[in-house]
Amino acid sequence: MLDSIPEFKPGDMPPDGYLAWHEWAEVQRAAGIEQVSCCSCCLWQTPQELSEVTINTIMRDRLGKKIEIKGPVCKKCATKIPSANAAPPPVPNLG
Ligand SMILES: [Zn+2]
Repeated sequence: MLDSIPEFKPGDMPPDGYLAWHEWAEVQRAAGIEQVSCCSCCLWQTPQELSEVTINTIMRDRLGKKIEIKGPVCKKCATKIPSANAAPPPVPNLG
């Protein structure tokens, strides 16, 4: 057992180290914390990693029909979206 890995609690932010991250992930999983898919990078994130920002994203349902869903964005992605909560740009009229 490596003693350099700190003890994690449910709700802690993920650490950088690989071993520490797995330790952290196990604690979150054991606590029943459900991960949510970030609508920007599509990576699974714990609630504490998500920002307040939500974006609309186009998904396809099982029949291939486009559906627009609003979903959360992780804190890393939120910093790359300066106006994520602003009104969407006007759709160009293509006739
Ligand atoms: Zn993300």
